[in-house]
Amino acid sequence: MNECKECGACTNACPLNEYDENYIVYKIFFGPEKDFKLWTRCCSCFLCEENCPYGLNPREEIFKIRRNSDRSNIPPRIIKYYENIKRTGFVFNIDEYVNEERIEYGLVKLNLDRIKSEVNKLFNI
Ligand code: SF4
Ligand code: SF4
Repeated sequence: MNECKECGACTNACPLNEYDENYIVYKIFFGPEKDFKLWTRCCSCFLCEENCPYGLNPREEIFKIRRNSDRSNIPPRIIKYYENIKRTGFVFNIDEYVNEERIEYGLVKLNLDRIKSEVNKLFNI
């Protein structure tokens, strides 16, 4: 985004800045692809786009980098999260052991086969 004037309006508007003062929105899309923050922070709220006085769209830039990244540039932990989602529908790993724990806490047992079949349909596997 060559037109970026680095004025910081996007960062001031970003809700994540309240929790991580080092999350500088415009530096994310100028930074390295392997930056963990590029992959974990933006929740697509559009506030940066609404507040950029120059009509730029930092959110779209962040997503463009994510979409076009080569797999080797994606942090391994993020790949693991995606694989978990594709396999179980959850970011974290879900297996029978999790179900045993759920029962212990009085929670409903997850139907892992049904979840897997629905996730497969979503990903068209
Ligand atoms: S608000 Fe716009 S011009 Fe200012 S730093 Fe963010 S993207 Fe760049
Ligand atoms: S769209 Fe992403 S980068 Fe932009 S303000 Fe929202 S969370 Fe921050």
